[in-house]
Amino acid sequence: MSRHQLGDELERRGISRRDFLGFCASMAAVLGLPDTATNAIAAAVENEARPILIWLEFQDCAGNTESFLRATHPTVADLILDSISLNYHETLMAAAGSQAESVRQRTVRDNVGKYIAVVEGSIPDGADGGYCTIGGRSALDIAREVCGGAAATIAVGTCAAFGGIPAAAPNPTGALSVADAVPGVKNLINMSACPANAENITALIVYYMTLKQWPPLDQYRRPLFAYGKTIHDNCERRAHFDAGQFVEAWGDEAHRHGQCLYKMGCKGPATSQNCPVVKWNEGTNWPIGCGHPCLGCAEPNFWDTMTPFYQRLPEVVGFNVGKWIDPVGLSLVGLAAAAAAFHGIGEVARHHLGKTRPIEDKAGSEK
Ligand code: SF4
Ligand code: SF4
Repeated sequence: MSRHQLGDELERRGISRRDFLGFCASMAAVLGLPDTATNAIAAAVENEARPILIWLEFQDCAGNTESFLRATHPTVADLILDSISLNYHETLMAAAGSQAESVRQRTVRDNVGKYIAVVEGSIPDGADGGYCTIGGRSALDIAREVCGGAAATIAVGTCAAFGGIPAAAPNPTGALSVADAVPGVKNLINMSACPANAENITALIVYYMTLKQWPPLDQYRRPLFAYGKTIHDNCERRAHFDAGQFVEAWGDEAHRHGQCLYKMGCKGPATSQNCPVVKWNEGTNWPIGCGHPCLGCAEPNFWDTMTPFYQRLPEVVGFNVGKWIDPVGLSLVGLAAAAAAFHGIGEVARHHLGKTRPIEDKAGSEK
């Protein structure tokens, strides 16, 4: 789509040039780029060829597809996402059966090393892959074929990134993450969360279109722009945590006044994502903003390590809050807390959770 065509499409959808540039500025903000990056983003979105995407959907609830398509009214982001070439998406494409399979095979064959594989859902290897088959082939087989020929693979959602709910103990289907199912996959990027935030998916693609490379990643192969800080770092209730003002029961006065949800089980200190900044539903609100604790959905094995959801994390000490937080409720793992420096709280809490295993970096990192 040329700049002229994009302009026409924006006008047809009632999106002004000012709104378009506002979107590009918001993408720069999500990505942590300076304002001066706005023009470069606008030029890339207007002029660069859209990447070819092959979207594989395996063992999941389709929540990431819903997130990706979730807009309630036309936005610039919709336009950009609509414009991306989704050559194969099992939920969205009109083709079915052998016709659909041949589209995928042809796209892979004709674009080896050029397309982006997007994987949604975990990949089961139990029963010789028999728990998830498409067109007579196992998800494992298809993932290895498609991810193996991709320029990059984006694992959207915690199921694809870390196994997610299907991999929760006792993991009856042998559910695997992309990293475990396709060892050595090139340029793997994990966009974890349940579901992944559409703003972050959009920002990742805009980053790639603008800079022709993938963003820096954390130890779990998640982009630092979205996962570089904990929920706790940016939480709007943080002042209440520091002041020792905690909700003790649903609907109590502290809850009605928007105080800290740590004692109600909030996993924000052990969870990295930009929810407090980007929020959900086009920036309308986010779980803690609504009075509900963070469940830790962006973290590896959260279904096993972050439960029971409404029991508090092991004591998080720092900012003089240790003296405020009573020592009850440590049944999650029963470990004493260690002192934590400001940016170390998430790591300390994560280590003290004990059950969160580090993800081995089985994926390649070629850029
Ligand atoms: S514990 Fe949860 S609610 Fe409290 S400040 Fe941290 S992230 Fe926010
Ligand atoms: S606030 Fe926590 S549980 Fe909610 S979406 Fe963000 S990371 Fe997931």
